[in-house]
Amino acid sequence: MRQVAFYGKGGIGKSTTQQNTAAALASMGNKIMVVGCDPKADCTRLLLGGKRQATMLDTLRETGPDKITLDQVIADGYKEVKCVEAGGPEPGVGCGGRGVITAIQTLQELGAYEDSIDYVFYDVLGDVVCGGFAMPIREGYAEEIYIVASGEYMALFAANNISKGIQKFASRGYARLGGIVCNSRLVENERELVEEFARRINTQLIHFVPRSKDVQRAEINKKTVIDYDNSLPQAQEYLELARKISENDKFTIPTPISQDELEELMSQYGIID
Ligand code: ADP
Ligand code: MG
Repeated sequence: MRQVAFYGKGGIGKSTTQQNTAAALASMGNKIMVVGCDPKADCTRLLLGGKRQATMLDTLRETGPDKITLDQVIADGYKEVKCVEAGGPEPGVGCGGRGVITAIQTLQELGAYEDSIDYVFYDVLGDVVCGGFAMPIREGYAEEIYIVASGEYMALFAANNISKGIQKFASRGYARLGGIVCNSRLVENERELVEEFARRINTQLIHFVPRSKDVQRAEINKKTVIDYDNSLPQAQEYLELARKISENDKFTIPTPISQDELEELMSQYGIID
């Protein structure tokens, strides 16, 4: 079983990329479980055809830890991908990251991590302002991490922060960085910039996912692109990303760069005048 986490700043395209990759790997015959670790609880929507999934934390609050069953919190999505949403506290109350760990531990106690599962995906909000979101790394659940970023400054700033989090816990756990997924925002020299950023933090650009209106078309239909029409060029991109992840053998402890170096890099590639 490979435990893979997708981190990245809010709105960068983690859930879209993660669900399309899960759908692609499932269509190749893999058994997948997706654990959404974002209080927004929208990490499995496209796999479930828009159906809202009861979150682990809400269900725990309502039924109590002794009564909760897997049927209440796991739903089968596209190609039998098992979909879970950890959920979160009420906005402004409590720590979201702690909730994520409670949810994961409960899943484990209930036997959700079956031996037949090939991949568990964690979709984690990762601006890493709050250490709580480093929990899946710290507690040894996320073994393989992919950072979703783009050529925009804030996306790379967040990616650099996330790599600090991975580096910090590298000696304690098993979490290693498998690469950066560039989810294009049509920034100038984007591929070259993100490739160079990846090199500087001691990782690789694992795949460049183009920006495409087909992502929105599929989303309006409450589907991943893979499910919506797998002959589309964008579906091929996600299949390619899934293949690269399945074959990846480059896992590293990242070497985050300073803010000055990041700003220099941005200006060198023509993003800041
Ligand atoms: P996150 O999970 O990081 O908050 P989402 O996956 O929800 O981000 O993506 C935010 C929005 O960006 C979504 O509405 C989605 O349609 C859009 N999006 C993501 N990736 C792409 C892409 N490659 N091309 C076009 N739109 C995209
Ligand atoms: Mg998301």
